[in-house]
Amino acid sequence: MNRGMRLLKSVAAIHRRRFLRRSFGGLVGVLAASVRDAAKAQNDFKMTKKQAGYIVRQKSSTEICAQCIFFIAPNDCSIVRGPVSPQGWCKYYGD
Ligand code: SF4
Repeated sequence: MNRGMRLLKSVAAIHRRRFLRRSFGGLVGVLAASVRDAAKAQNDFKMTKKQAGYIVRQKSSTEICAQCIFFIAPNDCSIVRGPVSPQGWCKYYGD
């Protein structure tokens, strides 16, 4: 292989690496934005605690977030916004 061909191959390899690096970076950025948008959209449809009549109950109560079908451990809810306490409750409690 002559010197010109070797130079051409090394330039092509540099461009290929740069292209792959930039493509991968762009893909990671798009995926991160999608995850962020999905989380925001999910939060937008949730009710506020005030709308749901959310309260934190005494430990002796049986209807608590920790027993609710909408509870997501350790402290989230699929229909009410923000962190909820496992000892919480709202009018949409479901068992
Ligand atoms: S009672 Fe259920 S629906 Fe209400 S805040 Fe707790 S987990 Fe969510």
